[in-house]
Amino acid sequence: MIELRHVSKTYRMGDTEVHALRDISLTIGQGEFVAIIGPSGSGKSTLMHTIGLLDRPDKGAYLMNGREVHDLSDNAWAVLRNRHIGFVFQQFHLLPRMTALANVALPLIYGGHADQKGLAHQRLADVGLTDRAHHNPNELSGGQQQRVAVARSLINDPMIILADEPTGNLDSKSKADIMGLFKALNQKGKTVVIVTHEPEIAAQAKRVITMRDGDIVSDKRQGASVAGADSGAADITPLAGDMDVIVPGGIKFFDYARQAIFAMVSHKMRAFLSILGIMIGVAAVIAMIALGRGAQQSIEQQLTSLGSNLLMVRPGSSQSGGVSLGAGAVTRFTFQDVAAIAKLTNTVGNVSPSVTGRAQLVYSSKNWNTQVEGAGTSYEEVRVATPIAGRFFTDEEVASRSKVALIGTTIVTQLFGEDDPVGKTIKINLVNFKVIGVLPSRGASPFRDQDDIVLVPITTAMYRLLGKQYIDSLYVEAKGPDTVDSAQQEVQDVLAKEHHLTAKEAQDSFQVRNMSDIKQAMESSTQTMGMLLGAIAAISLLVGGIGIMNIMLVSVTERTREIGLRKALGANNKDIMVQFLIESVLMSLIGGVAGIMVGVGASFVITFAAGWAVKISIISILVATVFSVLVGLVFGLWPAHQASQLNPIEALRYE
Ligand code: ADP
Ligand code: MG
Repeated sequence: MIELRHVSKTYRMGDTEVHALRDISLTIGQGEFVAIIGPSGSGKSTLMHTIGLLDRPDKGAYLMNGREVHDLSDNAWAVLRNRHIGFVFQQFHLLPRMTALANVALPLIYGGHADQKGLAHQRLADVGLTDRAHHNPNELSGGQQQRVAVARSLINDPMIILADEPTGNLDSKSKADIMGLFKALNQKGKTVVIVTHEPEIAAQAKRVITMRDGDIVSDKRQGASVAGADSGAADITPLAGDMDVIVPGGIKFFDYARQAIFAMVSHKMRAFLSILGIMIGVAAVIAMIALGRGAQQSIEQQLTSLGSNLLMVRPGSSQSGGVSLGAGAVTRFTFQDVAAIAKLTNTVGNVSPSVTGRAQLVYSSKNWNTQVEGAGTSYEEVRVATPIAGRFFTDEEVASRSKVALIGTTIVTQLFGEDDPVGKTIKINLVNFKVIGVLPSRGASPFRDQDDIVLVPITTAMYRLLGKQYIDSLYVEAKGPDTVDSAQQEVQDVLAKEHHLTAKEAQDSFQVRNMSDIKQAMESSTQTMGMLLGAIAAISLLVGGIGIMNIMLVSVTERTREIGLRKALGANNKDIMVQFLIESVLMSLIGGVAGIMVGVGASFVITFAAGWAVKISIISILVATVFSVLVGLVFGLWPAHQASQLNPIEALRYE
């Protein structure tokens, strides 16, 4: 059934060569009970690993049921191990966070079986541990643990059981129990190979192979003749068909997910911290996107409320986004310009000049620093700013530089609270002004509160408050939607003429922009801002991902022996890889979901506390979910790959 021909294995440690196996030839037939004995270091374990397809010899041939298996792939070996070989180890190698039952069922994950529980129960009953099925290994004695391991080795009804020092860690009573189990199994026709260094254990076998320094020095049969030794050929399992065993993905996935949860639960703080990293990243992304979109939306609202017929005239180059390059080239607007534009009655409806600056407001004991804007009476119409209380200022008040002011709703709250501000006197930069009205609310956007403003007649602003000789900008209202373009052109021309500029110079010294230009400019600036914030958020997500990678690497190292065991039980590289990937994805997904909740919550808090407009989009939530899964995948890939590449023997030996 098993035939080794001239098998050699040599380990090189620096300069010295260790011949663990020297030209071993060995045949083991069906139903044999073999003990391999010899001093420590004689190559017993190496021989057993070779028979068990855990280790590839350097030289020689291996035939299983007459078929050459030496040259088969790692994956095919994994299938053969799973189906036909049952392992029992000195250290039991049970997975600690699983019940005895789950440990017994473990190989089925890689082999696939309809009734996992039933079969595992049956095997536990076979070793007399029915009442311990739901205990974890740390609640079992050494003997009981080894019996669970024997039950596990039997789960797939293998053709051979390989036990490496199975009694090495046991008291004499348990030793007898385990040997009793093996003898009973052999009686039922199972092939059993036991590695031991204890002669009294070997004495219970039917065939004793003695090894020394990698050589077989004796091979004796003892006691009764081997039952069914010659009937082996009749029972050959067709090996070829085993290569394409299809394991239902669902069973594996369920086990992997459960393992991942076990791993996280047993290291709560560690898992929590790495999840926290992802959570913060995702929350930042969600909140930043919500903030950016909110800003954009409030800008759009403000612009539509202004009407689409508005033109804005500002000094500075139109080529460099409003920043003038040449000193002295900037146009300074005067009231003559206002009058000249007002004469373009074919295309232009209204002109409103504007100056802005900062000012300190005082009312009774309250102070407030705000933006002050000076405007003409047409502001009311051009900027759609009919007062919600009181009245607008008149042409006479503009002409006489009257000390009257309209205030925005933010200032009403800040200075007056619940009081009616109309008719009250406030100080603006130490000058007494009478409040004559309240401006309609325009809403807040993330970078500017539109209602934190004081409006005064332009003349008052220029000559009494801000000390300006020139107008900062002009708002021009075209007659109708179809005259916007011609109004823009005419305003451009008339200003160039007023200031004696050529078309080229005019382009450099002032700009006339319509609403869609302005909208575009504002949108691109909020977009830039949004991208910047998004980039910062993405970086925090990246940092979170690195945290996950770190923890996964630790987890792989910690579970090296588990990986070795899983491989011995029939897991192939892909199985191990998927298991660890699921763990990292699960972790980052939990972080992602928590991050979405925190991000949405934070967005609401921002709206509530700062009054900024935010807009949470379903898309950003979907994107965040997908991204957190991706982060888990990408950053889990390396640790999972590391895990999958482990050599089963070395992994099992790992301390
Ligand atoms: P036994 O099980 O009989 O005690 P082993 O089969 O474990 O012996 O080892 C046989 C020899 O091979 C020993 O000398 C051991 O030091 C050496 N050996 C085993 N595994 C390795 C390894 N991974 N690297 C180097 N030497 C090894
Ligand atoms: Mg050994």
